[in-house]
Amino acid sequence: MESLRVLFCSSEVTPYAKTGGLADVSAALPAELRRRGVDCTVVMPLYREIMNARLQLRPRFTLSVLTGAGPTEAQVYSHKEILFISHPLFSDRTGLYSYSGYDYPDNLERFSLFSRACAELVRALGNIDVVHCNDWQTALVPAYLRDSLQTEVGCLFTIHNLAYQGLFDAVLWPMLFLPHEYFNPECMEFYGRINVMKAGIVFSDAVNTVSPTYAREIQTPAFGCGLEGLLSSVSHKLTGIVNGIDTDTWNPETDEHIAGTYSKADLRGKALCKRSLMDAFSLDPTDAPVFGLIGRLVEQKGVDCVLEVIPGLLQEGARVVVLGNGNPAYEKRLKELEASLKGRMGVHIGFDERLAHMIEAGSDFFLMPSRFEPCGLNQMISMRYGTIPIVTPVGGLKDTVKALGETDRPCGIRAASPSAVDLEHAVREAVRIYTQDKALLNAMISNAMEQDVSWDAPSSEYADLYRICKKREK
Ligand code: ADP
Repeated sequence: MESLRVLFCSSEVTPYAKTGGLADVSAALPAELRRRGVDCTVVMPLYREIMNARLQLRPRFTLSVLTGAGPTEAQVYSHKEILFISHPLFSDRTGLYSYSGYDYPDNLERFSLFSRACAELVRALGNIDVVHCNDWQTALVPAYLRDSLQTEVGCLFTIHNLAYQGLFDAVLWPMLFLPHEYFNPECMEFYGRINVMKAGIVFSDAVNTVSPTYAREIQTPAFGCGLEGLLSSVSHKLTGIVNGIDTDTWNPETDEHIAGTYSKADLRGKALCKRSLMDAFSLDPTDAPVFGLIGRLVEQKGVDCVLEVIPGLLQEGARVVVLGNGNPAYEKRLKELEASLKGRMGVHIGFDERLAHMIEAGSDFFLMPSRFEPCGLNQMISMRYGTIPIVTPVGGLKDTVKALGETDRPCGIRAASPSAVDLEHAVREAVRIYTQDKALLNAMISNAMEQDVSWDAPSSEYADLYRICKKREK
């Protein structure tokens, strides 16, 4: 097979820094690509938390990068296959993008600097065929590569979530060090503001998003977040590839975070996991189903619909556990509900890897009624753990979950739409199946655990896309 050298640029990578699915993808996809023979190097910012972890970081390069104060030096360190760009804009504070729920006001400066450093790194490494950029935080890299005439390098831009486009006030344009003619509606302007994600879409050789359905949806006004026109105009280079999950990290047969390991052939461990999950949240014992939810508590994830259906669900005897953080109003409402429904509902506000494993393994059903979902990882993790996902008919949830009524081997339940009324129907159906149709439930658990949710097929599709982007033989 011909050699491919790829620089994979991401603002978060598991286990170094994570706020969501992008971090998991940025760890698992490059690892799988390497197994396929693609030489894939990952680069990310050196956040304070990573420095505090006291890893053995190896100094690799010193890059010269422009800032408002003139040229500055950025050190590049490595740890395993990851390169870290070190700069005070990342190491001078906690967190990745925000503090107490508010975005850092200098995020444009921070991530344009990171993107300029990535473009410089391409030059320093010298033999990169394709740069793979992910979401708005690295969407400027293709613009910098083109601007510095490094046009022999191919660029792939992946949209993980169109809802976050990197919108900034036009007065900040000089901070980008890009030609002013790029600030027009065909390029990086968006209704008088700077739109960073547009740079990735316009300047890349190929654009993809993380499921075929989402790739189609974002070309329509309902899901395009204002970019549907631009995205339709680049449909010739826009595709969708579903994500996989890290099947080593998420493996019920070996998972060290759960009370009992289990497999499709022997589910006894799952019963232990359910008991231990209920204990962890001080829930009253019951034979009724446990519904889990993990995720960012934002409108996208349909948290408001879940809040509406919880009281009815608990009245039917079910238990609900929630792990997440995000919108302070949702956090508060969830805590209030927990306080008034003690013993039947458990809420943990925060980010907790171990608890996420416990919930995936210990729940019977997983609530994921997203309004839109580029791909979604949690529904795939749930299926691997024999936990039936309750999903909506959008994006990756459509592509990855075969639902009851849609196939003869269902592994999920689909609400007809992302609304409280339809979610209520779906959860009632879940309770009915759990209490009255154990044969169907067991078949669904089995079907779910049989799904191929690995990176095997998706990584092969990415390698094909890289070959399309690669411009020349070296
Ligand atoms: P998104 O990327 O939109 O946030 P995904 O379902 O694609 O949603 O991926 C979310 C990932 O982050 C999953 O691995 C999920 O388990 C994890 N996650 C989200 N919130 C939390 C949390 N509060 N604690 C632990 N893990 C979380």
